Amino acid sequence: MQVVAAYAHSQNTPIAVDTFELDGVREREVLIEMKAAGLCRSDMSFFDGSRDWSDYPLVLGHEGAGVVLDCGSGVTHVRPGDHVIPVAIPECGECPACRSRKTNLCDLYFKPTSRRPFRLQGKPTRAFCELGTFSQRIIVRDTQVTKISPLAPMDVVCCLGCAGATGIGAALFTARMEANSSAVVFGLGGIGLNVVEGARIAGARMIIGVDSNPAKEPFARAAGVTHFVDASKPGADTLGLIRELTDGGADYAFECVGHADILRLAVECTRIGWGTTVMLGVLPGAQELALRPRSIQEGRRLLGSYLGNVKTRTELPLLVDMYLDGRLHLDNLISHRISLDQIGEGFELLASGDARRVVIDF
Ligand SMILES: [Zn+2]
Ligand SMILES: [Zn+2]
Repeated sequence: MQVVAAYAHSQNTPIAVDTFELDGVREREVLIEMKAAGLCRSDMSFFDGSRDWSDYPLVLGHEGAGVVLDCGSGVTHVRPGDHVIPVAIPECGECPACRSRKTNLCDLYFKPTSRRPFRLQGKPTRAFCELGTFSQRIIVRDTQVTKISPLAPMDVVCCLGCAGATGIGAALFTARMEANSSAVVFGLGGIGLNVVEGARIAGARMIIGVDSNPAKEPFARAAGVTHFVDASKPGADTLGLIRELTDGGADYAFECVGHADILRLAVECTRIGWGTTVMLGVLPGAQELALRPRSIQEGRRLLGSYLGNVKTRTELPLLVDMYLDGRLHLDNLISHRISLDQIGEGFELLASGDARRVVIDF
């Protein structure tokens, strides 16, 4: 069948939209009709020059929601008509990682697959994270399909697949924040605002948001930020201010920007003895971490996290239910809705820093 999809042609060229040929389903594969998809900075890194990558063209998109149209043999957990979120990290349920409570990083995530359901002018074409949610329809292996409640609006919960899971999960599953704790969140974009959501749900007594764009303050406060620090002010002593507000350092810090200097600052902002920092921002490949060794020796912890340690098939539906229960406020997160052919403008909005989450309505 023919589908329209957005793809990266090469680095430093604008994202393009074209017609692709899409295969039918094979064993343990699912055909999904996409209803909504969120734009993420990771997609942008394949055409804005910030990532070393050579396998072009590449169908982009790794966040979205849709409806199952067809299933190959051996697919047991979804059937046509089900509402689903396709996910970047598989959950096979059988590998050591899936059997452990300690991680969501299924071994399948690191095993390359040779399957290329998309073809562009006859050329088999890879899809980012083996998904390609910026396509009208996608073919995905069943381990990357999460069934969700049919009551959930897909143009909202589509954001849970990447930004939502990453941010909310970082607070609830990676840091395991306790009630009455304090948190500082660096960078209040799509990920940071979801960290704030997670911290609020965990019952944090103080959530400090730090961003260099003061226009983000009202949205940050609506999500649950109790104190906003404008890092753009000349001579701003962010570290001193946070230590003062938290009486010595925050219990938790979250770096959502992707910069080594900010990560070091985040660690320093946490309390001696137990302060925990979660690293969420993606550092450009050439950057190295430069932490003051004593900052860790003094009992602080630094944790990494992919998709917020959320197991994608068994735990992501819990976040959808939190939204349906009214505990999670995702509606504020989406700042722009666009059509697939406006995707270039959508990424310009994201790059400008003015957008929170931009969602494609198919
Ligand atoms: Zn993403
Ligand atoms: Zn697994």
